[in-house]
Formats: sequence, structure tokens, C-alpha cells
Amino acid sequence: MEYVQTSRKGEIALRDLSKSFQISGRSLRVLRNVNLDIRSGECLAIVGASGSGKTTLLRILAGLEAADAGTVLIDNEPITGVGNERAVIFQEPRLLPWLTVLENVAFGLEVRGGDARHAKERARHYISLVGLAEFADAYPKQLSGGMAQRVGIARALTVQPEILLLDEPFGALDAMTKLTMQEELERIWRDENVTMVLVTHDLEEAIYLADRVLVLPKNKDGHPKTIEIDLARPRDRSETRFVQ
Ligand code: ADP
Repeated sequence: MEYVQTSRKGEIALRDLSKSFQISGRSLRVLRNVNLDIRSGECLAIVGASGSGKTTLLRILAGLEAADAGTVLIDNEPITGVGNERAVIFQEPRLLPWLTVLENVAFGLEVRGGDARHAKERARHYISLVGLAEFADAYPKQLSGGMAQRVGIARALTVQPEILLLDEPFGALDAMTKLTMQEELERIWRDENVTMVLVTHDLEEAIYLADRVLVLPKNKDGHPKTIEIDLARPRDRSETRFVQ
């Protein structure tokens, strides 16, 4: 199988990325010289033991945390903080309780400097995409956990990012909802043609969703390893992405 690049958008390159935290006067090294290329349109899962630095790496990619050394390049440009080409989905969507679903999703676009006139229109489109058209005027307290996370996904997609960064997105959901949401995310990833980086402690989820899995070492003298899982995929992927 050969990877066909339909667009060069959303390519990520990590170069010699290092990060330590100072805790009680001691330095805790979390990431050491991480080098990685994430292809445009790829879904990369990051796994590793608790404390291995998964969330830290994702936060650096999001521009929410600064690395001590090294660079993150997106489409060959170094990032300097958060940017509209990236959207982040956390475990809890943290919706504003006094706004409706539609207003929450549109607000996500407005705070990012999106066109306010079209924000609601675009929000409606993505709310339908995640299957919540009938709940556009509902308030967050009327939603189940899975529905609230769907709103979080719609809010992220409304920005039309090239890259979706997800930190344990289904970690707070029950097993059945989680399975449905994984299938929905897989469909969205394929249809929206975004690059996805997914932090998860769930290996099954990583194998189901990802093209490659990055395994962070628990021992900081170890090196991150990537595992290709294209051939192990249990189902077909979009023909526009892969050819025989
Ligand atoms: P993972 O997501 O793999 O569980 P994290 O990236 O959350 O790992 O954390 C890696 C290590 O860095 C942990 O030991 C954690 O306690 C520490 N850490 C993370 N964020 C901070 C912070 N802001 N200040 C101090 N230590 C931190």
C-alpha cells in the first residue's frame, strides 16, 4: 500500500523536542529529543504508561505548553502558540451552561476571530454532522455525556482545523457510548480530511482509529517508538487516501 498525499496541509514535524518540569526544586524530564513526522491526513495515536508525557506532548502540539528545546513545525512553519489550524478536544468538553448547543458551538468560532455572521450557520452544519440537529436549542444540562462530547467535537470542527488534537476524548464515557463515538470519530476523520493526533490509554482504541501508534517510554532513557498498523486494520479506509 502506498500513501497518496492529496494535500500538504496539516503536516506536523517534531524536531528534538524536550520538556522537563521543576517539581520541589528537582527537574523531572518528561520528553527527551522527540523527533517525529506526522503525515497530512494521518491519524496518530500516542500511548504510554501514565506519566510518560502523552498529555504534555499533545499540549505542546496545541501550543498550550512551551517546549524547553526543539521545534514543532506545521506545514514547515514553526508554531509560536495556539493557532486556528489546530483544534483541541479534551476529555470534558466544558460547555458554557448558559448557552445553547448552537450558541456554544458558534461561540467557539467567534472567540477564534471567525466570521460572526456565518458562525451560527456553520455551527448548525457541524451540529448536524455529529447527529445533534434536534438538540441545537438544548442546554448542556439536558445532554448525556456522549452528546456533550459530540458538541465538543462539533465546536472543534466548526473552526475547520487542519489538525484535530484529542486528549482521552472518550475517557469519561461508558463502554457502549465509547464504541459509538469511536465509530463516529472515524467517519468524521475520513470525511473531513484532517490530521488527527489522539492521546489514549486504550490500546484497542488506538488500533481501531490510528494509522500509527507512538509509544512513549516510561523510562526516560528510552526512546519513543512508532508502530505502523495500516495492515492490521480490520476495515476499509477511504480510497482517496490509500491506493493498492
Ligand atoms: P501522561 O499524559 O502520559 O499521563 P503527563 O504528560 O500528564 O503524562 O505528565 C508527565 C509527567 O509530567 C508526570 O509525572 C506529571 O506529573 C508531570 N507534569 C505534567 N504537567 C506538569 C506541570 N504543569 N507541572 C509539573 N509537573 C507536571
